[in-house]
This record gives sequence, structure tokens and C-alpha cells, in this order.
Amino acid sequence: MANKKVVVVGGGFGGLFTALDLGGEADVTLVSDNDYFCFRPLLYEYLSGEVEAWHIAPYYKEILDERISFVRGEAETVDFAAQTVKVSTRKEALNYDALVLAVGGTTNFWNVAGAEEFALPFRDISDADELRNRMSKALDLVSPTLAPQDARKSLTFAVVGGGASGVELATKMSDLLVDAFERRGLKGEPHVLLIEMSDRIVPGMGEDVRAYVEKTLREKHIDVHLETKVSAVKPNAVVTEHNGKQTEIETVATVWTAGVRVNFLIEKLDLPKDEHDLILTEATMQVKNFDNVFALGDIAKVEADVDPKLPGTAQLAFQESALLAANIKAFFGGNELKTKHFEQLGEAVSLGTNNAAVLVAGNVIGGVIARDARFALYTSRLPTWQHRLKVGASWFFEGTTPKPLQPLGIS
Ligand SMILES: Cc1cc2nc3c(=O)[nH]c(=O)nc-3n(C[C@H](O)[C@H](O)[C@H](O)COP(=O)(O)OP(=O)(O)OC[C@H]3O[C@@H](n4cnc5c(N)ncnc54)[C@H](O)[C@@H]3O)c2cc1C
Repeated sequence: MANKKVVVVGGGFGGLFTALDLGGEADVTLVSDNDYFCFRPLLYEYLSGEVEAWHIAPYYKEILDERISFVRGEAETVDFAAQTVKVSTRKEALNYDALVLAVGGTTNFWNVAGAEEFALPFRDISDADELRNRMSKALDLVSPTLAPQDARKSLTFAVVGGGASGVELATKMSDLLVDAFERRGLKGEPHVLLIEMSDRIVPGMGEDVRAYVEKTLREKHIDVHLETKVSAVKPNAVVTEHNGKQTEIETVATVWTAGVRVNFLIEKLDLPKDEHDLILTEATMQVKNFDNVFALGDIAKVEADVDPKLPGTAQLAFQESALLAANIKAFFGGNELKTKHFEQLGEAVSLGTNNAAVLVAGNVIGGVIARDARFALYTSRLPTWQHRLKVGASWFFEGTTPKPLQPLGIS
């Protein structure tokens, strides 16, 4: 199958790991609109400076070898009859014998007024840079003589969405801001709001982890608003609605973690989809009615998972990529394609710069040990053994101490 052309569109968890598994076995081309892979589960640690961009967002040219061709560009459309993919940076479309769709999701602002315009998404390196910059700028405007209540008002941040992402972000932001208050001799404390529509935080997680997370949020003075909807986002405010009452709260920034929708490319493609625009695939990862088109990750709903549908996570995309790559080999080799039962592999939540909660054999472990265990687990999930080795050595010898929010201009 060495001369069979496989085009993989999207170089995230699903696409990159599929391409790495297939490299050398077929003529593989990876297409991505960025020139780097982003290990999103450690984006909070990038925000706090515990890890650096090269650790979690290595350039493809550093992790791919000659067995995989890389094309940087946005896949604009697919002609399934002609078996071609049109990429923004190429005049000629790319031909394929098998196609892998792995373009992932994008932030879902649910059409809330002003959200897309004024709320910050938190999905990529540039989003974390923007948020860190906003935090530093706001701190620079607060003088040590300012009264505690005024300092708190000037340093109010809202995080929308009380899932794991919102909790991880709110706790990291709070630790960074509290540290900056101490270093700069400011009075009082910052104000980090966590706004959740349902009646509980981390709704998808077990009770034990939730209890630990709730305790940590209380200890860190995170202002949790449950059963609260965001009805509008303004340049410097968030409007919430609780029990029919609307409240406008001034903020430095409102960060949006409350939802994912499929990538716009998928909306354009004429493929079988469910009501959320997720591509319907067989348990073999083949798109229904398309033998040579495969889909995985945040854009796919796999038949084997329908009841219950596992949420789109990196750990799911990772499991799917191994099956998908094996099935592409089977497809070209004329062998039977396999299926697999995917599982939730575990629960791990970062809770600030010195804490985390990890579920191990049914027990919740918290504190620094859990933080370190989470780091170790994620090192093992980074792409390629060479990159894992470099990053592991960097964390071991140079440490993973957070970088304080310095006044702007001082690095
Ligand atoms: C902040 C954050 C924290 C997370 N933490 C965790 C966690 O702790 N554990 C966990 O299991 N999951 C976590 N997730 C979820 C996880 O990151 C996703 O489920 C996973 O990345 C999905 O993999 P994917 O391959 O479908 O998409 P992605 O990893 O998003 O990759 C999609 C790729 O496609 C590229 N692309 C998009 N459109 C195009 C196009 N038209 N042409 C070419 N390329 C394109 C993108 O640039 C990207 O590289 C987190 C997500 C976020 C945002």
C-alpha cells in the first residue's frame, strides 16, 4: 500500500496521531491550517507559564519526518466523487485514495448577544497569550494605594462554563492573580467568577471528583454562580440571568469555555450527520456510505458510541486514531476492518498552579502529587518519543514553576 495516497485533514489529536501511525505504510499527506500541533489539555499550564509553547505546541517540521508530507493551508472543500481536497494555499487539489477528516471543533457561543465579538475563546496558544496580556494590563492599572473593594472591582474576570475547562481556567487565573497581588503589594484580592448554567460544576464528572473540585473552588475564593445563564457579553461586562433576574457585572475580560461546535468545513460537506452536525461513522470509523472516507475526534459520532455518546476529548480522539490507522491499512490490504469499544480512560483536572484532582482506581487523589501525576500522564501522551524525551528532560531539569504576571515590558 506504499503508493496509496492518504490525505489527513487536520493535525490535532485525531489527525496527527493517525498520520504518525500510517507514516511509511502509505503516501501520507497531513494538511493543517496551523504549522504546529496544540496539546490543548496543557493550555492552562501555558497560560500560567508552567510550560512553554515549544513543549505543548511543537512545529510539525520538528515532529514529522520524511515519511509524512506536510501541507500548510486551510482545507476549503472536498470533491468526494473526484477524490480531491482543495486547500487554500495550493492551486492544484490534493488527490486521495483514502481521506481522513479530523478538523476538530471550534468555540460555540450559542448566539449569545456580543459573545462572539467580546468574549475570549480559550482553545489555542494565541488565546492564552491574549488572556495573559489582559490580566497583566489590568494589574498594571491598579495602584497599591487603591482600596481593596476598588482593586477587586478593577480585577474582575468572568469564566463562562463550569465544566472541567472552566474550572481549570478559573483556578489557574485566580492563582496567577493572587500571586500578582502579593508581589505588587496590592490590597484585597482579585475577583474570578465562574458562571454555570446547570445546578453543578463539572457536570460530566463523578461525585468524588466534584466534591474535591468544589472544596478547592471555595478555598480559592472563586465566585461560583450556578443555574445562571449569560444573556449578553459587552466589551467590559457580562450580563447574567438567575431566577429571571438580570445582573450586569463589569469585567476586564469574559472568557468563554461553554461549548464546542463542529468546524465550519464540516458544515459545508454533504455527508451524513446528526442534529449537532457531527459526522456519522460506522464502528470502523468509516463515514456512513463512504468506504474510503474516515472521520474522528470532535467532529465524529461513532456508531459504537451512540449509547452513551462519549464527549469529544483528546483521549477519545487518541483511541480512535489507532483504530482508524489500522483500518486504513486493512482497507488497502483487502482485510476485514475492525471495531473497538472506546472508553473514558480517567478523570484529571488541574486546579491551579499547585493542585489537581486525579481519579485513580476509584479514589480521588489531590494536591501536588496529583499535579505531578497529571504532568507525567500528559508527558506520555505527547507526540513522538523524541519530543516526549526533550520535554520530559526540560520539565525534570528546569522545573515547571509558574511565571508571575510581570508588569508589561518586563519579561
Ligand atoms: C482548553 C482545552 C482543554 C482541553 N483539555 C482536555 C483534557 O484535559 N483531556 C481531554 O481528553 N480533552 C481535552 N480537551 C479536548 C480535546 O482537546 C479535543 O477533544 C481534541 O483536541 C479533539 O481532537 P481533534 O483531532 O478532533 O481536534 P483538534 O485537536 O482540535 O485538531 C483539529 C486540527 O484541525 C485543524 N484544522 C481546523 N480546520 C481546518 C481546515 N479547514 N483545514 C486544515 N486544518 C484545519 C486545526 O488547526 C487543528 O490542528 C481540551 C480542549 C480545550 C480547548
